[in-house]
Amino acid sequence: MQKTEVLIIGAGMAGASAAYFLAPHLSVTVLERESQPGYHATGRSAALYSETYGNAVVRAITTASKAFYEQPPQGFSPYPLVTPRGALSVGGADDHDAMRQSLAERQALVPNIAWWSQAEVLQRVPVLRPQAARYGVFEPDAMDMDVHAIHQGFLRGAKAAGASLVCDAGVRTITREGEGWRVETPAGCFWAPLVVNAAGAWCDELARLAGVSPVGLQPMRRTAFTCDVPAGHDTSHWPLVIDAKEGFYFKPDAGMLLVSPANEDPVAPQDVQPEELDVAIAVDRIETATTLQIRQVRRKWAGLRSFVVDKTPVVGFAPDAPGFFWLAGQGGYGIQTAPAMGELAAALVRGLAVPAALAALGVTADAVSAARPALGVRAVS
Ligand SMILES: Cc1cc2nc3c(=O)[nH]c(=O)nc-3n(C[C@H](O)[C@H](O)[C@H](O)COP(=O)(O)OP(=O)(O)OC[C@H]3O[C@@H](n4cnc5c(N)ncnc54)[C@H](O)[C@@H]3O)c2cc1C
Repeated sequence: MQKTEVLIIGAGMAGASAAYFLAPHLSVTVLERESQPGYHATGRSAALYSETYGNAVVRAITTASKAFYEQPPQGFSPYPLVTPRGALSVGGADDHDAMRQSLAERQALVPNIAWWSQAEVLQRVPVLRPQAARYGVFEPDAMDMDVHAIHQGFLRGAKAAGASLVCDAGVRTITREGEGWRVETPAGCFWAPLVVNAAGAWCDELARLAGVSPVGLQPMRRTAFTCDVPAGHDTSHWPLVIDAKEGFYFKPDAGMLLVSPANEDPVAPQDVQPEELDVAIAVDRIETATTLQIRQVRRKWAGLRSFVVDKTPVVGFAPDAPGFFWLAGQGGYGIQTAPAMGELAAALVRGLAVPAALAALGVTADAVSAARPALGVRAVS
């Protein structure tokens, strides 16, 4: 049996970032069921960083991650982690009031968000049809993220600090033994006083395996695909375009267009695959709102965005099991929040206070706690 101080279960973005911030302080082993980390949600995202996306807690964690992404620690990655993109919501006449309200709310967070006239919208993205793009709200500082470079940077940094990553190590059983947890996997048996549940869509399943109350995690399927860019258009300077009702988005992606119907379909945790209907819906919505003709889908995929009821991540010890730490419910924000979320998880695992940068933005341990009333998990006395 291999003993360590912390076992992290799941080597997606959540587990990798927690390992990166914990490894300088504690001995860490990361267990990953797949033969390579990043196979599930982390490898399937749209890779957009937006400071106005998600609820107040998510936005604060996103903003607190910005400095890391713009100026990562020396040697973290040979590649830039973020590059300018911009994000443009567009809407028709009936979206005016909702867009004005959203502009006011978002400007309070990010003052340089601007209202765009139809002419400004069409000048920037000429394929939009005028009726679908009567108004625009532009977030200039939204960025593309290099998800692979970020994920690899966290894993490399964790290993450099002494952590080990064990792949093909799906957790089969997890039981209390002595003052800690015994975890059995096909790659061996492990023991640690602390377990971090970073199993993405499977976090509730893992908790049940350990006899810990679930937090009500719901995985939601989101589909995406790439297609050719329209002939005769230089799309490199296009922002991500999302319609005001969140019925679709598209953005340039490595010489192609990445398209999604922005669907949120509840499903059980699984290696989720794209549904033809989702793709057809996206094609129909895009062809209605733009002059784009999507003749061929080049690559399609789906991934799981997993939420708890209040759509705030769960970062903290289980109230009903000693040494069992939740790092779950990253929803559609798990990449853009990863640096600050990993640092927050590492601090709370070590019994420290919320890091100063997050506390200054109003994030409290109670707001992300597994014991918060919305999750309905009872503490054991
Ligand atoms: C289409 C799509 C678009 C998205 N766009 C964005 C975006 O633009 N910006 C953004 O910030 N976020 C985005 N997201 C969300 C983001 O991808 C997720 O929030 C994030 O990847 C979650 O990371 P994770 O580590 O929690 O989960 P995962 O990456 O799923 O990692 C969990 C890991 O746990 C492992 N595991 C599970 N059970 C076990 C077990 N029993 N034993 C061992 N290992 C186990 C799994 O194999 C997996 O590797 C998007 C997601 C999707 C699907």
